[in-house]
Amino acid sequence: MFRIAIVGRPNVGKSSLFNRLIRSRKSIVGDEPGMTRDRIYARTQFDDREVEFVDTGGIVPEDRDVIPGQVLSQARIAISEADLVLLVVDGRVGPTHLDASLVSLLRQSGQSFYLIVNKLDVPQVEDLIHAFHGLGVEKLYGVSAEHGRGFEELVTDLISVLPQGVSEEFQAQTRIAIIGRPNMGKSSLLNQFVGRERSIVTEIPGTTRDSIDTLMVREGTTYRLIDTAGIRRKGKPTGLAEKLSVVMARKSMDRCDVVLLILDVTEGATKLDATIGGYAHDAGKSLVVVINKWDLIEKDTFTAHKLEEKFRHRMRFLAYAPMVFVSAKTGQRVTRLLDYVDRASRARRFRVPTSELNRLVERMQPRIPSAGRERHPLLYVAQVRTAPPVFVLFTRTRKKLHFSIERYFVNQLREEYDFYATPIRVIQRTRTGIRSGS
Ligand code: GDP
Repeated sequence: MFRIAIVGRPNVGKSSLFNRLIRSRKSIVGDEPGMTRDRIYARTQFDDREVEFVDTGGIVPEDRDVIPGQVLSQARIAISEADLVLLVVDGRVGPTHLDASLVSLLRQSGQSFYLIVNKLDVPQVEDLIHAFHGLGVEKLYGVSAEHGRGFEELVTDLISVLPQGVSEEFQAQTRIAIIGRPNMGKSSLLNQFVGRERSIVTEIPGTTRDSIDTLMVREGTTYRLIDTAGIRRKGKPTGLAEKLSVVMARKSMDRCDVVLLILDVTEGATKLDATIGGYAHDAGKSLVVVINKWDLIEKDTFTAHKLEEKFRHRMRFLAYAPMVFVSAKTGQRVTRLLDYVDRASRARRFRVPTSELNRLVERMQPRIPSAGRERHPLLYVAQVRTAPPVFVLFTRTRKKLHFSIERYFVNQLREEYDFYATPIRVIQRTRTGIRSGS
């Protein structure tokens, strides 16, 4: 595992940088963070590469006066453990003696390192970076960890030094978040999953103090059920509990690949359900809508079809999400859910070969109207990320292509490839910058 340590004086923004790097939309948080007292580890997947970030912030308490000796020994530990070091400095303060000492230390050790000039929050202060050229570090990045500025370049460069491929352990873990309002049947479904006799189940600490995840192995695939402690924790189903369920949903959603959104067939889909589904969409997670308590209703041949239409009407923007009717009580179709999860997890990691993308673009060209004087505004398309898949439409002009073109493109992709249960992101970009996102 390639390890990147983040070092620097107290209060330069190490933890913010760490959080930004692992939370960034462009990365999948594959968190295995074991929290030791002084270092936080997080594994993240960038594309088809994986990396472990180490935040050494805790070694030197941020709220104390700077003790240079401590900062230097923190850096020494980081150097001995890391493949690459990100040395963070405060752009608004300018280079300090201690920053310079850290640079020398790193240089003497032969460790590769990047200098990250943080707190450049607005374009007006970008020039503050020049003060750091004197340190003679070749790899210099101006960022704002707080506002997420300057990360594009940093992340691209980081990806380029990461070895390709993900370890089996990491890859084989499909992280599932079971979410939904109280009483939809989340715990019951969880019990069905872990109660199957052919699965091996272990409980492991999650990311926060009171969260517990459950690892489950079925036919060689490891599933990590996120925050199973939270699912089991019960309160009275009040309005507050409903609101809380949304907060919890967002938290566990952050850490998952596939969301199982649980609804109750007797209650129908509410606005809140649609909102939760919307979060999954925005977070780029694959989504399976699980309509539970199927045993409770009278049915004939058309019931499923009619009900699905009704549920879909509420969640029109989630057309790509499959809907499955299950009974967590009798176990009907519960095993099949994991097959859907497997398919979604493969789909979200799928990469369309470039040559095929080019052919697709060629076919699209005649349908694209001119933009101003440009007759062929669309230059080419690249898939820049997986999980979720992100495509960039590179255009010749700054003028945004009509939204119907984006839609057409996404439809084509869905027709030709199995992006099962997975949202597809499209960004338009000219050579100078991003024009729009969706
Ligand atoms: P949670 O709050 O979402 O975790 O919901 P629970 O799993 O605690 O379920 C709430 C209630 O619904 C409990 O009384 C369950 O026994 C019941 N329940 C859950 N799933 C089903 C189902 O498929 N069919 C029926 N009839 N009842 C269910």
